[in-house]
Amino acid sequence: MTRKHRRNASENVRPSDLEATYICDSCGEEIVVPVDVSAGSHQDYVEDCPVCCNPMVLHVDIDDDGGAHVEGEHE
Ligand SMILES: [Zn+2]
Repeated sequence: MTRKHRRNASENVRPSDLEATYICDSCGEEIVVPVDVSAGSHQDYVEDCPVCCNPMVLHVDIDDDGGAHVEGEHE
C-alpha cells in the first residue's frame, strides 16, 4: 500500500513540456529546443542546428522554479 502526495498543478507547465531557446553561433537564428527535465537539472549535449546544420554544444540548466535556460556554443 502506497500513499502519494499529489502536487497541486496550479503552477504552470508540465515538466515534459518544457522548452528553451538559444542563439546559434553560426547563423544567428533563435533555436527552440525541447528540454527533458527527467534527464537532470544540468545537461550538456551536442545537437546540429536545424537551420545551418552546424553542430552546437548545448548547456541546459533547469531552475528550481521549472524554467529552463540553454546556452549554445559552437563545437
Ligand atoms: Zn545555425
